[in-house]
Amino acid sequence: MVVTELGYMGLGVSDLGAWKLFARDILGLEVVDDGSKESCFLRLDYWHHRIALHRDPSDDLAYLGFRVAGPEEFAAMQKQLGDAGIKFRVGSLEEAEERHVLELIKLSDPDGHPLEIFHGPHVRFAKPFHPGRGMHGKFVTGSGGMGHCIVRQRDPEAALRFYRALGMRGGVEYKFGSGPKALQLTFMHCNERDHSVAWGLGSPAKRLNHVMLEVDNLDDVGLTEQIVRNAKIPVHLSAGKHSNDHMYSFYFRSPSGFMIEYGFGARGATHQSEYFTEDFYGHKPEDGGF
Ligand code: FE
Repeated sequence: MVVTELGYMGLGVSDLGAWKLFARDILGLEVVDDGSKESCFLRLDYWHHRIALHRDPSDDLAYLGFRVAGPEEFAAMQKQLGDAGIKFRVGSLEEAEERHVLELIKLSDPDGHPLEIFHGPHVRFAKPFHPGRGMHGKFVTGSGGMGHCIVRQRDPEAALRFYRALGMRGGVEYKFGSGPKALQLTFMHCNERDHSVAWGLGSPAKRLNHVMLEVDNLDDVGLTEQIVRNAKIPVHLSAGKHSNDHMYSFYFRSPSGFMIEYGFGARGATHQSEYFTEDFYGHKPEDGGF
């Protein structure tokens, strides 16, 4: 039994007002504002939402939502988790409705990041995605899910066992240095996207290092970089191309401190292990680095 995609995520943000403007004017996301002072939803495709912002001083990841195909897989995943000795609880109807899904379970990964496994997202074909500002193309989601994220994992071996228990595959894709002290970055996939979740770098103080959003037009990466630089938002990694997913992207600071990677042109998962010691080109640290 395999999760099929990173379907949604929740972010705890201390400045909800700044985040709404950032999401709309910088990222081009659709802000769904229902008037709540405590939360709002961000859309990037036909789904009711892909990102939920919650007013919260953490300025960090609040939860990740991984999808399974349907009710049968939802039941089978619960058995699979039980067999692996992973604790979870079934969310109430109210909790499922809060996320706009039919059913969900709640659990934590080995680093303590809250996770949800759900089926049945609310998809609104009557409400086409409307970008917050002009875009040349659209966001790449579909069966590859909403994008990817890099999270802290203080016990990488435990993390690997846990995400494998969700049916994900993957391992080391970048290796810096040699011998037992080499820095190794691990990337996990569950569909054609090279990775949906990864770990091995970032600040120990934060759960989340970055969230990647992919667009289907190179000009949207160029336009977004221009908007980011004009707004004097710190760029942490210059534009460049990754060796693992072939994403042409750049990284900049969100109002919560963690980074957004905005990219185009990724290749699909190769489904065979390979490792890299550098990127194709670019991704030069700027303004505080990675
Ligand atoms: Fe990335």
